[in-house]
Amino acid sequence: MPPELPSKLPRVGTTIFTVMSKLAAECGAINLSQGFPDYSGPKELIDAVARHMRDGDNQYAPMAGVLPLREAIAEKVAMLYGASYDADREITITAGATQAIFSAIACMVRPGDEVIVFEPDYDSYVPGILLNGGTPIAARLSFPGYRPNWGEVRRLITPRTRMIMINSPHNPTGSVWDEADLRQLEHLVRDTNIVVVSDEVYEHMVYDGMRHESLARYPALAERSFIVSSFGKTYHVTGWKIAYCLAPRELTAEFRKAHQFITFCINTPCQLGIADFMRVRPDWYGELTSFYEQKRDFFRAALAASRFELLPCCGTYFQSVRYHAISNEPDRQLAERLTRETGVASIPVSVFYADGEDNKVLRFCFAKHEDTLKRAAERLSKL
Ligand code: PMP
Ligand code: GLN
Repeated sequence: MPPELPSKLPRVGTTIFTVMSKLAAECGAINLSQGFPDYSGPKELIDAVARHMRDGDNQYAPMAGVLPLREAIAEKVAMLYGASYDADREITITAGATQAIFSAIACMVRPGDEVIVFEPDYDSYVPGILLNGGTPIAARLSFPGYRPNWGEVRRLITPRTRMIMINSPHNPTGSVWDEADLRQLEHLVRDTNIVVVSDEVYEHMVYDGMRHESLARYPALAERSFIVSSFGKTYHVTGWKIAYCLAPRELTAEFRKAHQFITFCINTPCQLGIADFMRVRPDWYGELTSFYEQKRDFFRAALAASRFELLPCCGTYFQSVRYHAISNEPDRQLAERLTRETGVASIPVSVFYADGEDNKVLRFCFAKHEDTLKRAAERLSKL
């Protein structure tokens, strides 16, 4: 008799990013679903990584990450956010933001602990909480503005609340939190034992002159926070799966206890190559913001005459649209049909709600060449 295998994640299927990218490939559709660029990282960066490989930097890195990279990150965070993180004891290199987020949950959340997430939420958060025995508690971002309701968050906090997970700029909606939001959060967690995971992977993609409110700017929040960023987004190299986690030393000590047995360390040549690149290109971040702001404007202009209603996009490389003038199908059904029949793949936003709330919104990734965006918009404008 085969063993009985009650699933630890009975309600979880295959991630929507895999589902939609696979369907896009099968249909030969333009893939604006899973978030990744159709261009590569900068040549100097790729050359630097290749040079380190050729030079023989191919063995295990230190568990926390190579020191030159941690030092470069400390300098970056000081330059951008005026925050001081100790490269030795407060910065850890991880296998993508996904692993950083999972490790932060794994080292903090015990069975019975509650973790507040904001729906729609990035799809790795809830499975990470459940695998560690925690209970996800969903706060809703308003619709269609996708703003937090701080009164609701206050009501959801209980003595069992161990963690709050936040994400600005926000995937999938492109909304961005401002200083007032951070002050509200600061107020709510003051004098509690709640820790915060701040997913800031889109930190350099904030538009229209707004600034990214990293938690690193707020000492009363930073002292209880794991702040996560991803080089995959920042350098157009999502396939390298390399990221970092900033946290005060007591939190980092716990984080590394988990990290060392989840992955131990991250590939050496990429770490060294990124460290070299960060040193020579401190101007990269500002250029990246303009680069993506132009893409956002281009894509929005290309869709302006379509029957989609464009929701605001203040950050990230995602544009969300309402489609009520085109169809009343459920969003997942429409996303699949558009992939097959119109040749453009997108992400249905209902998958980011535990109860499948369907506001009839699709998400398109605009991290693509203008030509790709133009072709996709032409197809979408025929609907
Ligand atoms: N968080 C958010 C909000 C993301 O959009 C992504 C990836 N797109 C991740 C985390 C994971 O990043 P990584 O690929 O570095 O694991
Ligand atoms: N974060 C990317 C997105 O939102 C996808 C990452 C993944 O495929 N897991 O599209």
